[in-house]
Amino acid sequence: MITILDQDFSQLNQFLSERTFSKIFILVDENTHEYCLPILLGNLETETAIEILEVEPGEEMKNIQTANQLWEILTEMQADRKALMINLGGGVITDMGGFVASTYKRGIQFINIPTTLLSICDASIGGKTGIDLMNYKNMVGTFAFPEQIFAYPRFLDTLPAKELKSGFAEMLKHGLIADKKHWDDLILLQHLDAVGIEPYIKQSMEIKQEVVHGDFHEKNVRKTLNFGHTIGHAIESLCLSTGNLILHGEAVAMGMICEAHLSYLEGLISEEDSELIIEQIARYFCYIDITDFKEEDIFSLLLNDKKNADAKINFSLLNGIGSCVFDQQCTTENIQKSLNYYKKLSGF
Ligand code: NAD
Repeated sequence: MITILDQDFSQLNQFLSERTFSKIFILVDENTHEYCLPILLGNLETETAIEILEVEPGEEMKNIQTANQLWEILTEMQADRKALMINLGGGVITDMGGFVASTYKRGIQFINIPTTLLSICDASIGGKTGIDLMNYKNMVGTFAFPEQIFAYPRFLDTLPAKELKSGFAEMLKHGLIADKKHWDDLILLQHLDAVGIEPYIKQSMEIKQEVVHGDFHEKNVRKTLNFGHTIGHAIESLCLSTGNLILHGEAVAMGMICEAHLSYLEGLISEEDSELIIEQIARYFCYIDITDFKEEDIFSLLLNDKKNADAKINFSLLNGIGSCVFDQQCTTENIQKSLNYYKKLSGF
């Protein structure tokens, strides 16, 4: 269940007052500690003891070492199965906090309070938790629903512009895969800022929730949310392994450009539509230099994608603006062509 919080966080306080928890653990990173925790604590009304768990920010921290530290701290602080974990942060915190909570003592309850655009519209919703392994994205994780998601869009006021844009990539994706009107509304935005984007947040959250609701374990329609992520994740992983970090949304934008072109090459959308989509995405996102990445390394990562079956790469591709098909197995030639098309467009 998703709730947009009022100024006084009354819905969160009501949630806490209706339940009994032995202790509340609030997981933050350095930035959400500084910018979001004071707002949360200033509004929280509870008698239950609160402990703050802080990790360094960034994707590099979303790994087994950090998860292990968190399990150890929970153990040292004698967290029992009636403890509540509150994940206050972006997608790294909601993914990792959800993973730690859903595995500690075989699972304690957790809630997500997302603080980035990407986590409000996407990562906090849908019950996928996880950590990266050997530079492969989200290789270890669980399907586990938070008790509730409480979104407070005012947290976006302190979010750096680059991070806001990263979340916008997932919003564009929601429009492209499921709702042409949402896409049309979003591409009318000239400048990306928290105030301009806010009116469209609810629609993006609802699209994500509805898709997930129809297929929690990603057997069919949920796979459409991976549009742009097959190639995007491969490039994000390669960047992670070389220490040349890019934001998740930047990788998704890159992946959507390649996969929109791939949709055209596979005969699913017209050239005109694919070019229109690419032109709009490129208005908001800079091209990434992928010229140093070897094709075999990209293909090795594509072959390791979690959506694959029978050693075939499964793509989710567009068959219209606002419509997506999944389990599309493309020819190697077309995948290569889409990567080369991107390289040519990027001009690197
Ligand atoms: P993030 O969690 O790293 O947050 C981005 C940065 O913003 C961090 O430095 C953070 O400290 C800072 N920050 C967060 N909130 C802030 C605020 N209100 N003010 C100032 N600074 C703030 O990254 P993200 O983009 O939110 O999430 C990316 C992660 O989400 C990736 O690991 C990705 O794999 C995951 N993801 C998961 C799902 C899912 O379904 N589980 C879906 C999409 C993405």
